[in-house]
Amino acid sequence: MHYRIDIKIGGNEHNWRRPEILSGLMSLLESPHCVAAHLATACGPWSAVKFVTDGGPRPIFTLDHVDGIPEATDIEQRLIDGALADASFVARAFSVLAERKAQCSIEHPVGKGRDSLMVTTGCELHATLMHTSSVAAALAEHEHVCIEFDRCMTDTDTRKSTQIVATPRLGSELRPRLGVLTCSLGVDSSHQHSDQPLRGRDGNGVYRTVASETYGPRLCELLARAMHAAVVSSAGGVHNAAIAQAEPTVDAPPKRLSTADATEFKPVNPFAKDDSVEVYWKGDKKWYHAVVIDTGEQRVTIRGRSLLSSTIQVHYTSDGQKLTHCLHNNMVRLHGSHA
Ligand SMILES: [Zn+2]
Repeated sequence: MHYRIDIKIGGNEHNWRRPEILSGLMSLLESPHCVAAHLATACGPWSAVKFVTDGGPRPIFTLDHVDGIPEATDIEQRLIDGALADASFVARAFSVLAERKAQCSIEHPVGKGRDSLMVTTGCELHATLMHTSSVAAALAEHEHVCIEFDRCMTDTDTRKSTQIVATPRLGSELRPRLGVLTCSLGVDSSHQHSDQPLRGRDGNGVYRTVASETYGPRLCELLARAMHAAVVSSAGGVHNAAIAQAEPTVDAPPKRLSTADATEFKPVNPFAKDDSVEVYWKGDKKWYHAVVIDTGEQRVTIRGRSLLSSTIQVHYTSDGQKLTHCLHNNMVRLHGSHA
């Protein structure tokens, strides 16, 4: 069973900056039934873009001030406090899972500071979530593996270099799947994207970073496969028959992936006929109630790759419409699951 805790799905009922949500989430992570967790928190407060002197916001975290700059303005201090709350949650979650020998991964944009692989002029003091005292202490205490990859090789239209810090077993499964993916712009002619950095707004006034806040299907698949392999192979405590049973028969080969990669993955449809669900309509910014009347699969093309996506045919209770939705690009939840 996979739980997605995300403000985009559950609103403030999924907001771990609220003490009661945090304590519920920590009990889930402390449960022996929790075998793995992937953590991705807001990265904006550590954005390297703040090091560009273009009149925009100044950096609020630096290598000299890993827990926030001194003499911050009220607005900056609020951002610092929120970001440090996320950091403290990430540190606690990683420690709890590492101590139980369960698997944990933390995703964050790569550092561009003087201590990083990608030292960038003007960004020498760039600090990341991993530099905060709380996360750094958790990582110092527990064995972990760092991998870096370029998200343009999985799901974004710009390079978006990303790091994942993971418990060793999960890290060893992430390495061949994600660690090998570096931008092949100019090397592989089938790899195309703009050189435009994730900075400022696009022609529609939308911040360029917004498109990369959500993981695309390929990245989700690779993360899921790595996590599954790590959980299945981990000895002792967390292993159980249900996990072994769910092992897929085909795993992604450890090779560089191109957009023409033909690895087929058969999706599992999480919904069944007669399920009472809610479907999110992005334009209306509303969830609509519906009943599933059929399930199936449909071949779709995502970033030039042909993939199978699960579908549901639903009957909307509000207006009686019957529509078929693919699950890779729609948000659907069981009715009542968000309560
Ligand atoms: Zn690229």
